Amino acid sequence: MDEARLRQEIIDTARAMAREGLSPGTSGNVSARLGEGMLITPTGMAYADLTPPDIVFVDAQGEPAPGGRKPSSEWRFHLAAYRTRADARAVVHAHSLNATALACARKPIPAFHYMVAVAGGKDIPLAGYATFGTRKLAEHVARALKKRKACLMANHGQIACGATLGGALDLAREVEALAAQYVTVLQAGKPKLLGDAEMKKVLKRFASYGQQDED
Ligand code: 13P
Ligand code: ZN
Repeated sequence: MDEARLRQEIIDTARAMAREGLSPGTSGNVSARLGEGMLITPTGMAYADLTPPDIVFVDAQGEPAPGGRKPSSEWRFHLAAYRTRADARAVVHAHSLNATALACARKPIPAFHYMVAVAGGKDIPLAGYATFGTRKLAEHVARALKKRKACLMANHGQIACGATLGGALDLAREVEALAAQYVTVLQAGKPKLLGDAEMKKVLKRFASYGQQDED
């Protein structure tokens, strides 16, 4: 995809995130890999006001393109996600209600439902707390994303990676839906968790789930 289209797609993704109530105000941010670096939303701007030149290119060393907007304060963990996950071409970070509530209670999402496998494993982990925008937070995020495509972030929110911007946003929606279900389950009683063997089966099925070519 060319850069102009990618800039517009980042804006569309950020607006969808805001419109759907997945992240209040100017919270959250969206990026897509471009060459050795990435394109990312600017810091502190309303998503409805963004135009393509507002999207910032940040190179692999963390250097933003001169003369443009200031990049998201979270450019470090976006770069860390791309460094950690070769399969990630887009990253969505959101302060979605239920994911954030669990993250503030310091509860990762266990295998209470087989759908946790959408994040690529038997649970959705919780990255440790560090101040927003810091290198320390990027380190915590990189550790949590090593074996998963999404994670919660302590006292903060969630992050989802995808092969496309649409894929990353879809995963962020799934994480929020699972978080909402898990919060409800916790109110209903003690969840019965699926075991590792069952989750292994689920993950195997997920690998061939959907309209994929049979071989
Ligand atoms: P930015 O506006 O700098 O992207 O920050 C929003 C956010 O969610 C920080 O964690
Ligand atoms: Zn945030």
